[in-house]
Amino acid sequence: MRDVLAPDSTRWRAFQAVFAQVAGAGGYGEIMVPLLEDLDVFKRVGEATDVVTKEMYDFYDKGDPPRHIALRPEQTASVCRAFVQNRPQTPWKTFYAGPNFRYERPQRGRYRQFDQVGIEVLGADDPYLDAEVIAIGWRFFEALGLRQVTLLLNSLGEPADRAAYVTALQTYFAANVDELSDESKLTLTKNPLRVLDSKRREDSAVVAGAPTIGDFYSADAAAHFTAVQEGLRALDIPFTLEPKLVRGLDYYRRTTFEYQGGTLNSAQNALGGGGRYDGLVEALGGPETAGVGFALGLDRTLLACDDEGVFDAPADAADVFVVDTTGGMQALIITQQLQREGLRAERAYENRSIKSQMKAADRSGAAIAVIIGSDELEAGTATCKVMADGTQSVVARDDLSAAIRKQLS
Ligand code: AMP
Repeated sequence: MRDVLAPDSTRWRAFQAVFAQVAGAGGYGEIMVPLLEDLDVFKRVGEATDVVTKEMYDFYDKGDPPRHIALRPEQTASVCRAFVQNRPQTPWKTFYAGPNFRYERPQRGRYRQFDQVGIEVLGADDPYLDAEVIAIGWRFFEALGLRQVTLLLNSLGEPADRAAYVTALQTYFAANVDELSDESKLTLTKNPLRVLDSKRREDSAVVAGAPTIGDFYSADAAAHFTAVQEGLRALDIPFTLEPKLVRGLDYYRRTTFEYQGGTLNSAQNALGGGGRYDGLVEALGGPETAGVGFALGLDRTLLACDDEGVFDAPADAADVFVVDTTGGMQALIITQQLQREGLRAERAYENRSIKSQMKAADRSGAAIAVIIGSDELEAGTATCKVMADGTQSVVARDDLSAAIRKQLS
């Protein structure tokens, strides 16, 4: 887990603000779910996934009897739990931003506390909605300035199609079990679909020869998938069909997709993804409800931004720095006044020498220094110095912010 200091934290907030803007333009309202839930909420949705079985931070609270609680490893389950409890009108379109917790092996782009942004739509089963959801993620990447994102698309079919496929996979992998890695042998006993996710080299030949889901689609599932693709084509969003894309959590049905960063190494190149999860709300005790959404990782998306040289950390410079040689109180008053008027105004502390205050002004990156000495104090004026070229002018205190704004523009 990390501390995030400025200017990185400023960049994180800007990232969330861009996402809020893109999702907000589509009529998605923000949901803030608790950082923790009853452990069962997560267990019901991901019984066979590493995220839920191995990586959760769980503990007992101080209740009587104590309740088994977990820090959220993701937010879709919480959003569905919130839907069941709050019963908002459908279609319910919502977005979220914030941290999740997974006990993973930390490395570049993978942390134990990490931020995601995401959207979910509950209560609509329209293939063009899948296209809309995918498009919102796509437009978010565009808004950040990313150009090398690719979209992988698949459908897992209806639950019955998926079940038939899983049986076929089981048979296939069982016949080739000796060629699988030890990790995949273990995965096979829990969830054969997840073997397809393996990025281990030993598994690649067996995985490449595995049956593909496309042969198992029912007519409905095939028609839904075709319509999603037509929607994406109509929006000029390029995609690659990837029949082995099954994604981590268990509850996906029909559409699944992943956004990959073109510049990141292959183990870390998933910026995020999502899909349809009709059935999840029911699993949490609600009515039968269609659902679709995605989650994007902030860290990897920002790494992709770094690689492409876009969405830099915002400049962290002051507009104006107030230098006060009369003891400091004037700088206190003037910075407060300028801040009220919307300028980023800073000052030095501890009544330092003018030389040391000018140095601090330089370091602050301020375009303008306002200097108050005893002459200015007496005359009710201030000296404005343009840091770039050293030109100075004397202005009345009352006109200070107008004069500064003029210089800044
Ligand atoms: P998931 O919820 O597992 O489908 O992950 C969606 C996205 O969240 C991934 O593509 C990553 O960008 C990000 N992500 C997942 N786990 C982590 C982690 N431990 N640290 C940083 N980002 C993560």
